[in-house]
Amino acid sequence: MHVFTKTTYLLNHIEGLKPFPKIGFVPTMGALHKGHLSLTETSLIDNDITIVSIFVNPTQFNNVEDLEKYPRDLQKDLELLENFNNKIIVFCPSPKELYQGTVASQQFNFEGIENEMEGAFRPGHFDGVGTVLSLFFNAITPNNAYFGEKDFQQLQIIKKLVEIKKMKTNIVGCPIFREANGLAFSSRNARLSIEAKKASSFIYHILKNAKDNFGIKNASEITEESIEAFKKNPLFELEYFIIAETKTLKTVNEIQPSKKYRAFIAAFIEEVRLIDNIALN
Ligand code: AMP
Repeated sequence: MHVFTKTTYLLNHIEGLKPFPKIGFVPTMGALHKGHLSLTETSLIDNDITIVSIFVNPTQFNNVEDLEKYPRDLQKDLELLENFNNKIIVFCPSPKELYQGTVASQQFNFEGIENEMEGAFRPGHFDGVGTVLSLFFNAITPNNAYFGEKDFQQLQIIKKLVEIKKMKTNIVGCPIFREANGLAFSSRNARLSIEAKKASSFIYHILKNAKDNFGIKNASEITEESIEAFKKNPLFELEYFIIAETKTLKTVNEIQPSKKYRAFIAAFIEEVRLIDNIALN
């Protein structure tokens, strides 16, 4: 398996491949799990080569402590990828290498979707995401890039990014990969105790309940009941439960049959912030 830390070495390697390959790209922040591998698997099927980046992007963290505590284990990640498929190319640049100097965000206008949910609770987060993906896309120019619906708002932001910047990369959304108890795989789960991991199936339970009730109860009723259920669970501190339309990501109270909706949750357990969502229709 090839591992590169310098952009020029990565590009030299790709240019040496004949014929020039169709490139799939899976950006990650490492601490890899089965969710990341499911994206990688899809890319391996669709493309000639698959580049998996491992890069904890400092500019998308609005909280220094969260950045410091973010789980990192490059050696374990490399072993996992090597065993999974040794044809993968890993790109793990340093912040200085990728940003080519000052590690700072550009500012973006994603037509308002950057101000909802994660954007509202993590100021500057999507400027950091837009910046790092612009850098990666400009350097690698992938044909396809793979993102999980686990971070549904991020997926919509990146679709907007390539549209605004007229980039040629095709953005592919991939389904959420879950543990048997419904908990969505996340690098942050590594920070949870065994008990908290078990208890976190509660998030999926609430989402599933919202889906079951969608079309029977109205959106505000489902929202109120979900917030109430979180208040009764002492292990969690809910940041938001929102039912939103999938294009604008604006909170809705009334449903229009022609539109698509999802329910979104951000909640803390053992001071770890977890997010999840589900398609309602
Ligand atoms: P991260 O390393 O958390 O930045 O995630 C890298 C990519 O993996 C993003 O596109 C995420 O949406 C995706 N991802 C993370 N967790 C999951 C999951 N449980 N199922 C599917 N995709 C995921």
